[in-house]
Amino acid sequence: MEAMAYLVLARKYRPQTFDEVVGQEHVVRTLKNAIRLGRLAHALLFSGIRGVGKTTIARILAKAINCEQGPTDDPCNTCSACREITEGRAVDIQEIDAASNRGIDEIRELRENVKFRPARLRNKVYIIDEAHMLTREAFNALLKTLEEPPPHVHFILATTEPQKIPVTILSRCQRYEFRRLPWSRLVEHLQNICEKEGVPIEREALEIIAREAEGSVRDALSLLDQAISSGVQTRNELLDLFGLADNLLLEEIARAILARDLPKCFSVLQQAFEQGLDLVYFAQDLTEFFRNLLVLKNSSGRVILDLPESELAVLRTLSLEAETEELLLLFQILLSGLETVRRSPVPKLSLELALARACEVGKIVPLEELFAKIEELKKQAPLVGQGNGQPTLEEPPARETSDVSWKDFISRVREASPPLGALLETLDPPVEKDGRLLLRVPEGSILEEKTYREKLATLAHKHLGRNIEIEILSQAGSSPLRQKLIEKPIVQEALKILGGRVAQVKLYEKE
Ligand SMILES: [Zn+2]
Repeated sequence: MEAMAYLVLARKYRPQTFDEVVGQEHVVRTLKNAIRLGRLAHALLFSGIRGVGKTTIARILAKAINCEQGPTDDPCNTCSACREITEGRAVDIQEIDAASNRGIDEIRELRENVKFRPARLRNKVYIIDEAHMLTREAFNALLKTLEEPPPHVHFILATTEPQKIPVTILSRCQRYEFRRLPWSRLVEHLQNICEKEGVPIEREALEIIAREAEGSVRDALSLLDQAISSGVQTRNELLDLFGLADNLLLEEIARAILARDLPKCFSVLQQAFEQGLDLVYFAQDLTEFFRNLLVLKNSSGRVILDLPESELAVLRTLSLEAETEELLLLFQILLSGLETVRRSPVPKLSLELALARACEVGKIVPLEELFAKIEELKKQAPLVGQGNGQPTLEEPPARETSDVSWKDFISRVREASPPLGALLETLDPPVEKDGRLLLRVPEGSILEEKTYREKLATLAHKHLGRNIEIEILSQAGSSPLRQKLIEKPIVQEALKILGGRVAQVKLYEKE
């Protein structure tokens, strides 16, 4: 029953003209142009995931070059040529399914028949679906034909795996890459269809269908068909029907992971299990959730995720609760957990193990917070390492360049020489000693070279407003000051008290 319903929607709304195609604007534009200019290639390769319109566009193309009113980029769909093609009974348009057993025979026949003129139409069109499934023998036969295609013949190879097509074939095809439909376009498309069908399904439910379809129009329509035939109207009914994870559960378990609350993780998982969710999908959704957190954490405010605003808001809030390195580790653990869950005869136990591992990941504390805690601790009890001649963190290692701050100086150098400026940014601030600037550079730095040193000295003279000599101290190890900071007893002590390790060292300038 469901399969029937699926055919109904996908067929009913199959685009019959280029303008009806949803998405793939780049492909449609190029093809329409080629038709208008009479420069359509004889061999075309359509690649992209399933259900994004490859065969649909191939059929429209067949009509475009055979329409009695054409060739035209807008086939009439009423002439006998157009109608025969739409109804799949045009003898000159042949669709070959390379995945079927008949594939080889059909290619052989094709090689025989290709030289004859079309029986009824202006052009013969061979649409080879799943072209990557052709055997070597079939590819060879096809290659012979592609080497010298008769003027009245066009080949359209459609494939989900273009990398499996031999280079010899690829090089003779004009390539068109079909893209996944963006989530928001899919939602819009589904909503249009529901309106036309008079089906009252909540937008939130359609949003989930679009999410699950992952950019495939056909998959989305197939899910919509199932939803309609099951009488689903609300988001919750839809989640029930497909056994999908409710985002609330995902959010809850993600929060528990970020809080390293293992008992909570287990209880949410148990809940998902009792609701009958497919735990492999649940694990996958959870991994994607952390992947999205990571992306968002590093996108500095730009929205680069094609997700509903409500989901983005949740992700944004949660991404503030963890450091990048932490999210990266959690993502890694969940991803390898997901691989195990997929293969496991007891997915629930495997997922529990992954959750336990995730909860073991140490909290990463930003340095600002670490320093604040140290200050707090120092007020309570004196720390080892204080008062025995060790400088405390408040004291700068030595007097820094006065008048113009190091940061300002770098930005001026940047204006004069961007590469030099960028190079300075990687270094620790210099120390001024007896009218000389001591600048520590890693071994082998180009700053050791005379020309650069002189250039820097000239700039220093100009911007620091006095005669100043620059001394370059070459040192092994990229960042001595940073290393020194980490080795300080006070930092070591803090690590001991707070538990953890140093992920990153940031240098702050003293005002
Ligand atoms: Zn026509």
